[in-house]
Amino acid sequence: MDFTLTPEQELFRKSAREFALKELEPIATDLDREHRVALDVLRELGSLGYLGMTVPEEYGGIGADMLSYVLVMEELSRSCASTSTAVSVQNSLCNTLLVEFASEAQKRKYLPDLAVGKRFGAFALTEPESGSDAAGLKTTAVAKGDSFILNGTKRFITSASFSDIFLVFALTDPSAGNRGVSCFLVERDTPGFTVGKEEDKLGIRGSSTCELFFESCRVPRENLIGELHRGFKVAMVTLDSGRIGIAAQALGIAQAALDEAVKYSKERKAFGKLLGEFQAIQFKLADMKAKVEAARLLTYKSAWKKDHKLDYIADSSIAKLYAAEIASEVADEAVQIHGGYGYIRDYKVERLYRDARITRIYEGTSEIQKLVIARELLKD
Ligand SMILES: Cc1cc2nc3c(=O)[nH]c(=O)nc-3n(C[C@H](O)[C@H](O)[C@H](O)COP(=O)(O)OP(=O)(O)OC[C@H]3O[C@@H](n4cnc5c(N)ncnc54)[C@H](O)[C@@H]3O)c2cc1C
Repeated sequence: MDFTLTPEQELFRKSAREFALKELEPIATDLDREHRVALDVLRELGSLGYLGMTVPEEYGGIGADMLSYVLVMEELSRSCASTSTAVSVQNSLCNTLLVEFASEAQKRKYLPDLAVGKRFGAFALTEPESGSDAAGLKTTAVAKGDSFILNGTKRFITSASFSDIFLVFALTDPSAGNRGVSCFLVERDTPGFTVGKEEDKLGIRGSSTCELFFESCRVPRENLIGELHRGFKVAMVTLDSGRIGIAAQALGIAQAALDEAVKYSKERKAFGKLLGEFQAIQFKLADMKAKVEAARLLTYKSAWKKDHKLDYIADSSIAKLYAAEIASEVADEAVQIHGGYGYIRDYKVERLYRDARITRIYEGTSEIQKLVIARELLKD
């Protein structure tokens, strides 16, 4: 096996790192405190190609491989997981879905603007009464002439406050369960569609999360994405690959927590010694490093398998499960190594501790990843 990155992948990592240090690191604390999305930075990320990472060049993207996207997500997340959340939704959930399932006309209409951050997109599957059990959704889309009429509510939709287009899953045949779901592209200004208030969150506070309301919202038939009644598959296939991006986000947060813990261990003294001279602290750092490296290999491997067109479904769930769990563990230890200072907002580890937590919940909770892994293990 070859564990080296290509020169192009190294360049993606290096340039994303430089961008994150220059543009994100200085503002990440303020975004968190002010509960503010860095829209200007997101647009800049778009102009540099980071919002169209895996979109083919013919649709305005940069046509990079999945591993390059993972490297960019990891580096941006080291500095600001809030901003990388929006990057992940745009790349993994919107663009990837459209590249895989939209018609040629839809791709030409929407992808060029999404790929460069002229427009933003959101992915709306979760509802008040259906999260993990995504097939239990209740939003309906009834065919009427050349349109579908949508009614229902979506909850916890990332990037909703500023998105221009929404990929919405609704029941087109309520009697058929998950074989009666379809995917629609809803433009923000469509009558009958409204975006609700911002949720007040524990972490990733510099990202937007809102409810969506559909009240007799008329969506043209031409905005159906993929086949009628086949939308559940569209959602699941999109999430299979999206999880690789969240694994990379968790990895970036964990790496940042380790970086902070190492730095602090070289600065802080107790009992006349640097913290890093105590073996108890050294062992904590060693365990953190081993976990981060294992998460990195799992995450890169799942991206590599996708790039090589190999079956990566279990791999992406394993990577997401492991990276998300260790991100919380590593951030927790980083707080512990900082002692009381780790509990104070002025220290980066306090934010990392809160930001890490979401990676165990969205795009499938850790429990749901275990269900996917077990299903893959037990299938004939
Ligand atoms: C900040 C944020 C951003 C989000 N962004 C988006 C977005 O952009 N688009 C979108 O569609 N959704 C989004 N979500 C929703 C997210 O994906 C769901 O919250 C998540 O899938 C869990 O669903 P739930 O909250 O309804 O929890 P539930 O499904 O009610 O789960 C509650 C608990 O029960 C466990 N559980 C459920 N079923 C099982 C089972 N069969 N076996 C074992 N345990 C089980 C879960 O693991 C969890 O611990 C976001 C959520 C948050 C908080």
